[in-house]
Amino acid sequence: MVKKVFEKPLSWIERIFFLDFVRGLSITIRQAFRRTITTHYPYEKLTPPKRFRGFFGHKVVDGNEPQPAFEEWVERFKIQVEPGKSRCVVCMLCKRACPVPQLFEIEGEKLPDGRRRVSLFNMNMMLCTFCGFCVDACPVDCLFQSDIHETAGYTRKDSVLDLQTLERIGRDWQRRREEEPDRIWIDDYQRQRLWYENNPHLPEVKR
Ligand code: SF4
Ligand code: SF4
Repeated sequence: MVKKVFEKPLSWIERIFFLDFVRGLSITIRQAFRRTITTHYPYEKLTPPKRFRGFFGHKVVDGNEPQPAFEEWVERFKIQVEPGKSRCVVCMLCKRACPVPQLFEIEGEKLPDGRRRVSLFNMNMMLCTFCGFCVDACPVDCLFQSDIHETAGYTRKDSVLDLQTLERIGRDWQRRREEEPDRIWIDDYQRQRLWYENNPHLPEVKR
């Protein structure tokens, strides 16, 4: 059975004075003078929060590795530690945790002194769902997701992150954001305040 729904008919006052139109226009005018909370991308860019799940990187050895986990994994896998190079211990836990493991290509090479180091680390971003399981699985805080979100490329090859690219992203991250407190947004108090001003029905934020 089809239920017919009728709109409430307009009263004659509403018809004569176009009250619906005036109501709609008043909302438009009110919004036009409110503070803008959207950005004019790509001319205006926000820095994403530290927890943003963007393109991947490898943190490099800089003396701030999680201890004693890093030392233990380095010894367990006989890894050669080089300052400024990837912290990867070639444990493959990231690949194992990934729902699409074929996107990883990871290899280690043996050095003359019997120790090993990562020699190949490719991640095909065209297959990635950005779920972050691989990051959670990394035992030495090597693999991480950065704030890089402009990831378009001209070829499929552009979507493959190799070891050099991952290390470059890692170095850049450690220089720019490693020390930053782990907050939702860079300036979350101001951001929430702005949202509150535009949405007075929301509970006020506490500092
Ligand atoms: S984010 Fe998810 S899909 Fe992408 S590489 Fe990591 S585990 Fe795999
Ligand atoms: S989990 Fe971390 S240390 Fe292990 S292979 Fe992946 S990136 Fe390297």
